[in-house]
Amino acid sequence: MNVRDSEFVTGVLLGSGFQKASSEDKADVIIFNSCSVRKHAEDRLFSNISELKNLKKKKPGLIIGLMGCTAQAYKEKAIGRAPIIDFVCGPGNVHEIPAIIKKVAKSHRAIVATDKVDSPRPELFPKFRIEGLLAYVSISEGCNNYCSYCIVPYVRGRERSRDTTDIIKEVKDLASRGFKEIMLLGQNVNSYKYGFIQLLEKLNNVEGIEKIRFMTSHPKDVSRELFEAMHDLEKIDKRLHLPVQSGSDRILKLMNRGYTKDHYRKLVSMYKKLVPGGEITTDIIVGFPRETERDFKDTVRLVEKTQFDGAYIFKYSPRPPARSCKLKDDVPPEEKQRRLAVILDIQREMSRKKRRCV
Ligand code: SAH
Ligand code: SF4
Repeated sequence: MNVRDSEFVTGVLLGSGFQKASSEDKADVIIFNSCSVRKHAEDRLFSNISELKNLKKKKPGLIIGLMGCTAQAYKEKAIGRAPIIDFVCGPGNVHEIPAIIKKVAKSHRAIVATDKVDSPRPELFPKFRIEGLLAYVSISEGCNNYCSYCIVPYVRGRERSRDTTDIIKEVKDLASRGFKEIMLLGQNVNSYKYGFIQLLEKLNNVEGIEKIRFMTSHPKDVSRELFEAMHDLEKIDKRLHLPVQSGSDRILKLMNRGYTKDHYRKLVSMYKKLVPGGEITTDIIVGFPRETERDFKDTVRLVEKTQFDGAYIFKYSPRPPARSCKLKDDVPPEEKQRRLAVILDIQREMSRKKRRCV
């Protein structure tokens, strides 16, 4: 999503007369695009920004901007944490960036633009694309699920689906420019308002496009019909990313995920049956508040039984204002680290065995 957003802003800036600099020290403007979904990414971001202190001293006219989810979450506080920042721009305000830069250059005053978190994007699609065969296409913005640990609904706003005709137009345009593979993006693609399966059917007919991938799918919203479409439509990639987060029903409930581990297991069996040769990957959070050894063992069991082809495993971190912040972050850091290592080991061993079977 962030790659796509960076492409969009690059397109807007090029269209307003800006040019790409050949290196950081030659640039007059440097913009950081940020992710705030986990604390680690945020800490790295602020340390990367601080590394520009010397450059800014040497070149006082240098304008440093922050966009993306951390911009939306921090607003003016971002400047408190990194005073060399000249502007902060939320995801709903990105089209204003050229005007913001011009204002900052004139007034030498910092600007914070984060008031349009729920606004639909004004544009149809990015004018600039990173060269290659794969292009990212956003089908929806924001999220309505409010998983208790997650900051996304607060920084990306409520879910807004793009019109099917706009998406098809964008994909046709990409095909005419030589792109072969499309990655459809949405926080929960399955809740696409105008019918996700119908969208896949239509995109499957776009000439020139050879493969269509999508992410992320939510276990409460995927269905037999989706798996059938993945099987029947030849251009749809057979891989499925289906984050489970935890194998404990008690923790899933605290996370507000809207399904049980049995439901998840059933979905996986159905997928494996209907999409032969498919690959399934997942996301897991360890050390969620109140996660006991027993809850953790449930997750271990689910990982062992499901035989994922890959898993992204994260240590829980509180992300205010997400609701889980009200629960005490009571799993000690070293225990989170241990749980992470245990699942990583199991997953690595499983991936190794799978590769050997191929
Ligand atoms: N919309 C997608 C992606 C959300 S963010 C989805 O529903 O899966 C990507 C992953 O980051 C999540 O799946 C989750 O595993 C992880 N994550 C989100 N918030 C987190 C937090 N507070 N602590 C640790 N991991 C988190
Ligand atoms: Fe966050 Fe849940 Fe929405 Fe994914 S589905 S973006 S985890 S609230």
